[in-house]
Amino acid sequence: MESKKRIALVAHDNEKHDLVEWVQYNWKTLIKHDLVSTGTTGRLVEETIMAKNGGARPASLNLTRLKSGPLGGDQQLGALIADGKIDIVIFFWDPMSPQPHDVDVKALLRISVLYNIPMACNRSSADFLISSHLLGEAYDPQVRDYSDYLARAIR
Ligand code: PGA
Repeated sequence: MESKKRIALVAHDNEKHDLVEWVQYNWKTLIKHDLVSTGTTGRLVEETIMAKNGGARPASLNLTRLKSGPLGGDQQLGALIADGKIDIVIFFWDPMSPQPHDVDVKALLRISVLYNIPMACNRSSADFLISSHLLGEAYDPQVRDYSDYLARAIR
């Protein structure tokens, strides 16, 4: 990972308020990095950062909006992770409501763990992540070697 990180931001509807508050607090740090969001979360993140910046889009804001989560955005994000294009995931998923795309949510959690992605699923974890000195430094994550798995015998 470079010192400039590629940070994914995703929140389920009941958690979007929390994420917006968190972005209001941390926007100056976030705009130093590249941001990727599912569709609706991305719109809110963009609006929040612009509002905090006096209505103007900060020149350094680089935010990629994927599809909305239930329309495939979680899967697009999972593909970016598998391709090594995401460094950090902030994912405020809703622990109290079933989602139409629950299987995609599970897949996103799984692929993040598989690729050893630092991931925060609530505000306290997100606070700890964003205040880590590693956020602004290069970091070499250890990804498990799956060559034995890939070379396994199939009969
Ligand atoms: P949304 O998707 O940002 O488009 O609401 C979030 C999700 O449910 O994964």
